[in-house]
Amino acid sequence: MSERTPFIVGNWKMYKTVLEAREALTLLRAAVRDINGVDCGVAPPFPVLDACAGVLAGSHIALVGQNLYPEDEGAFTGEVSAPMLKAVGANHVILGHSERRHLFGEDDALIARKVKAAMEHGLVPILCVGETLEQREADETVAVVTSQLSRGLAEVKGGAELSSLVVAYEPVWAIGTGLTATPGQAQKVHGLIRDFLGDFLGPAKAAHIRIQYGGSVKPGNAAELLAEPDIDGALVGGASLDPDSFAAIVEAAAG
Ligand code: PEP
Repeated sequence: MSERTPFIVGNWKMYKTVLEAREALTLLRAAVRDINGVDCGVAPPFPVLDACAGVLAGSHIALVGQNLYPEDEGAFTGEVSAPMLKAVGANHVILGHSERRHLFGEDDALIARKVKAAMEHGLVPILCVGETLEQREADETVAVVTSQLSRGLAEVKGGAELSSLVVAYEPVWAIGTGLTATPGQAQKVHGLIRDFLGDFLGPAKAAHIRIQYGGSVKPGNAAELLAEPDIDGALVGGASLDPDSFAAIVEAAAG
C-alpha cells in the first residue's frame, strides 16, 4: 500500500460558464461525498473560480488554478497572480501544462519563476512535464522530462518547501487525443521521475511527492493506470467536464 493518497484533478481548460460550473460542481460534490481515501480537485477557468469556491465551501474538493503569472501585481494585462488565486480560495495551481508550453510559448525559465511564486504564496504547484510524439520516437523521453523537471525547479533548488510539490507526467501525444500511455509506459517514466526527485531532494522526500499521470484518462482506463506503484493520481482534461465521468475516476482511485 502506497504511503501517498491518490490525487485526482480535473482540468476544465476553457470550458464552462458560471451557470455551467455551478451545476457541474453541485453534482460532483454530491457524487464524491462518500468516496474515501482519495484527494480530488477541480481547475476551472479564472472567471468562474469565485463561483466555484462558493459551491465547494465545506467540501473536500480542492480549488485549483490553471496558471499564474509570477509577479504579485502590476501592468500585466490578461494575467492573474498567485495572491489573487489564494484570495479566491485556490490552494493548488497547474504550471507548465503542455498547452501553455506549445500554444503560448512558455519556456522552462518562465515556468521556474511561476513555481517559485506559487510556493512563496502557499499554492502547491502541479508541475506538468512530458514529451511530444517526435521526442518519444527519437528516444528522448527521459532527457526531455528530466530537463523540464530540473529547469522547472531551478528557482527553488534545495528548498525545504518542495515537499508540497505535485508532478504531472503528461505525454503530449496522449493529451486530448484519445491515445493513452500503457500502464507500463507510464510507470516507467513515473519511476524515472521519482528517481530524479530522489537525487534532487533525497529519497525520503521524493517518496512523499505525488506524481499524477495525464493523457486521455477515462473511467475505463483509470484503475489500471492507478494500480502502478508510482502513479499517484491523474490530471484529467476531457473526462473531468462530466461530473459522472470524473466521479467514476475518483472512485477508481479509491480502489
Ligand atoms: C490535460 O489537459 O491535462 C489532459 C490530460 O487532457 P485529456 O484528459 O483530455 O487528455
